[in-house]
Amino acid sequence: MEVHAEVDGSGVPLAVLLKRELHNQKVEKPDILFGEASKSKKGEDFTFLVPKCHRSPAEGSIVGGENASDDDAISVFAIFDGHNGSAAAIYTRENLLNNVLAAIPPNLTSEEWTAALPRALVAGFVKTDKDFQTKAARSGTTVTFVIIDGWVVTVASVGDSRCILESAEGTVYFLSADHRLDANEEEVERVTASGGEVGRINIAGGAGIGPLRCWPGGLCLSRSIGDVDVGEFIVPVPHVKQVKLSNAGGRLVIASDGVWDALRFQEALNYTRGLPAEAAANRIVKESVTSKGLRDDTTCIVVDILPPEKLSPPIKRHGKGGIIALFCRRPSDEMSEDQIDRGCLEPDVVEEIYEEGSAMLSQRLNMNYPSGNMFKLHACAVCQLEMKPGEGISVHGNVPKHSRVDPWGGPFLCSSCQVKKEAMEGKLHSTSKNIITQRLYFYRGC
Ligand SMILES: [Zn+2]
Repeated sequence: MEVHAEVDGSGVPLAVLLKRELHNQKVEKPDILFGEASKSKKGEDFTFLVPKCHRSPAEGSIVGGENASDDDAISVFAIFDGHNGSAAAIYTRENLLNNVLAAIPPNLTSEEWTAALPRALVAGFVKTDKDFQTKAARSGTTVTFVIIDGWVVTVASVGDSRCILESAEGTVYFLSADHRLDANEEEVERVTASGGEVGRINIAGGAGIGPLRCWPGGLCLSRSIGDVDVGEFIVPVPHVKQVKLSNAGGRLVIASDGVWDALRFQEALNYTRGLPAEAAANRIVKESVTSKGLRDDTTCIVVDILPPEKLSPPIKRHGKGGIIALFCRRPSDEMSEDQIDRGCLEPDVVEEIYEEGSAMLSQRLNMNYPSGNMFKLHACAVCQLEMKPGEGISVHGNVPKHSRVDPWGGPFLCSSCQVKKEAMEGKLHSTSKNIITQRLYFYRGC
């Protein structure tokens, strides 16, 4: 008997459709291309560029292993803008990723891992801050921390470095928070309620000058890592936003305030039009410095999240020109029949999966998960210290009466992370931090 290929209504043989399906599954991860540029004034901006690393924490290394297989790999990009020295920025750069990865239980499915990531980011930020407090260094740092897992982008931020996303269609999304006291009334209320004082520098009874700052300390940010000599109300709990890009991709611009004080978001994006990532980052830094002069450390990372090369239009790829092509046109324009046939570019829809900015650990560590294995039952939810059943203190403030750990009563904190939590909420009045109250003589340059 002669065998004919089955043909569906569109005239495409079934075997071809099946092969295409398999092909699509294999190449569903995007290509990641990136570039960075920086002009240094104080030498306190640091970047972290890891296009490929494991999802599990590394032993003795600042990154989770660079030989990750494609299926397992994530990409991590970050900016740390230090103030009052660079120790906090350097410490955070070296430890934050591992602290975040260590907060995710092993053996999760890819979907579970993505869902657990926002909570792990909160745990990792707080652990890093808590550990840095023991270093007796007074510096602090902003953190804008971007994890790319397939088409899902998760951004955790404290401070005023920012991350924006422009989808291939041209829509701009803000993925980070602004924790400048001047720009965030909610944070002014939180700091005040937790025992801080918010005001401008006041000279000889005149009108206050400069940006809003919180006292003691005089920092103009409400969240950071480090700043051990400022009140505990300057918390390291990050704003976290998670979005899923369509497979048309998009471009991320991550930059320190040296850029955003000089350029509006749209201006920055317009300067990068048609440029590959490295040239785009250079252009943004150049334009920032040209418009305002080099007044602060000015750092920019540009990351292009692109449809896999195999699926990109062959005619438009001329080395880096392929990237130019992608960001010069809308995905629906100029699609070849071949492209449409392969279905490589779907409508550009960025799905917003998760966003939370609360400073309260009870809200941030208690996400509803689809399955129980996403909790480490016998580990502190912040520092991952192993605890005996019944030893931990519920993040909701209830000490469990029974030795059996009830997953619904948790997650749980060890005693020292419980102290940290209460201090951040303004419930501890005697603090281990060195309070400096000389408002006129000492304040943070920010
Ligand atoms: Zn702990």
